[in-house]
Amino acid sequence: MSGRATNALVLATRNRHKLREFERLLAPRPVLALRDGVVLPPEVGETFAANALPKARAAAAATGSVAIADDSGIEAAALGGAPGVYSARYAGEGASDEENLFKLLREAPAGSPLAYVCVLVYVDPETGEEICFEGRCTGRLAEAPRGSGGFGYDPAFIPDDREDGRTMAELSEAEKDAISHRGRVARKLLAWLES
Ligand code: IMP
Repeated sequence: MSGRATNALVLATRNRHKLREFERLLAPRPVLALRDGVVLPPEVGETFAANALPKARAAAAATGSVAIADDSGIEAAALGGAPGVYSARYAGEGASDEENLFKLLREAPAGSPLAYVCVLVYVDPETGEEICFEGRCTGRLAEAPRGSGGFGYDPAFIPDDREDGRTMAELSEAEKDAISHRGRVARKLLAWLES
């Protein structure tokens, strides 16, 4: 039986938040945590795909199961697409979400265009299939942070998909999933798995 017909997907991450989010987005398909001891390669690529692919390959090779991995970030048009793959460490190695968020608010003008990007890679060790999906969510920069939901840059991100001007951090989980980069990429993967 090919991996595509198999139910469970191993998620190549050590991030519990990401695991919970993909469990929710890919339900009812089971998403399995990567077992302890499997070493994931560091994120040293210059593109989201270059970071996600080695993680999915490592998890698929170590477990013999179909694996998925993602990499995501935020692109500010006013900054030529930065911070992009460096979003998690925009304000420096080990920077907090808040430090990264305030750096973006300092460097890009309020109202300027933003895009959240998520690249999700699927690797089947049996067939050698490696498929890459991209999800994008466009928006603009708020004048000041608002809301307590979500994480990262959410309090400063006003999505284009909604007309009420709320930031991502002011949306419910379900509202965010319906328009987010991760929601979109997860739905692309599910549609492909079911095709
Ligand atoms: P990674 O995908 O774990 O490498 O994390 C990428 C970084 O991009 C996160 O640490 C956040 O700073 C940012 N990011 C990615 N997705 C989101 C989101 O949905 N909301 C807010 N920030 C995000």
